[in-house]
Amino acid sequence: MKSSVLLIYTGGTIGMIMDAGTHTLVPFDFDHLYKQVPELKRFDLNIDIQSFETPVDSSNMAIEDWQRLATIIKENYHLYDGFVILHGTDTMAFTASALSFMLKNLSKPVILTGSQLPIGVIRTDGKENLITAIEIAAAKKNDKPIVNEVAIYFEYKLYRGNRTHKYNAEHFDAFKSPNYPVLAEAGINIDYKLNALLEPPNNALEVRLNMDRQIGVLKLFPGITQSIVHSILHSPMVNAIIMESFGSGNGPSESWFLNEIEQAIKERDLIILNVTQCNQGAVTQGRYAPSKYFLEAGVIGGYDITFESAVTKLMYLLAHINNKSDIKKYLQKNLRGEISIN
Ligand code: ASP
Repeated sequence: MKSSVLLIYTGGTIGMIMDAGTHTLVPFDFDHLYKQVPELKRFDLNIDIQSFETPVDSSNMAIEDWQRLATIIKENYHLYDGFVILHGTDTMAFTASALSFMLKNLSKPVILTGSQLPIGVIRTDGKENLITAIEIAAAKKNDKPIVNEVAIYFEYKLYRGNRTHKYNAEHFDAFKSPNYPVLAEAGINIDYKLNALLEPPNNALEVRLNMDRQIGVLKLFPGITQSIVHSILHSPMVNAIIMESFGSGNGPSESWFLNEIEQAIKERDLIILNVTQCNQGAVTQGRYAPSKYFLEAGVIGGYDITFESAVTKLMYLLAHINNKSDIKKYLQKNLRGEISIN
């Protein structure tokens, strides 16, 4: 039996061609994908395509779009060996992270890809990204999928989705996974790093669509004022805050700042997740005096989680767990390979 892959087009640069009349970039009709990428015909695979009715620039991706993607995967899960999602690069790391939490016990590949140059442009990076993403989505070893997780394939590398960050707006290698090794590298062969890939789960897929968006961000900077910190920590709309701190999780030691943090936790039972502003490395609360205070006040250390993963993990946990102390417990657990801790 031929392997089969469902290709889901959401929008983004990859699906653009130059309109001959207007000389502007317009989304192309994915029903004509084989005309744009004739190489796909040479795959011994069944490839079906579903497109968002109105393709979206990924800066407009909303929780409803993540829910739509998770629902498409749920409804087609038993019909395909793997899934490829074509997506704009700007928020691809957020979508990949969100899907990793929404699709619990995933045992098939869900590969996101896109491109920096439209597929209709001669020097496009989109064709290689698309072709190899499809090959990875169909790849099996001993009749079992090699990849059992949500991943991003970009510029010859496969990354764990919830470990990625878009770090380059110009170069073809737009993504990095600063705290976790690549899952595969494409050269003459696709070299899968079996030790880095998630093990297949023991239980059946569970798709959890709800996400709670009542979260805020407090990005620390030298000179930040008390009134700004206070207004963020006391916003009635916010159930949890991601605090982007310095280095290994540090912040100012001024007493007004520490009091604000302590009060928000005590009085509002606010969840504060401490993530580092550094691109690489982890929060280790307690290593220096300022972060020791955070630990004592009940701030949760985010370890080496990316910002994208912190946002989506909080949205997921807040929507599915009522009890704040359990949410705090799960924030410190590795749920989908998003942090380097067991
Ligand atoms: N703005 C586009 C998007 O994220 C850029 C891209 O596709 O790479 O949808």
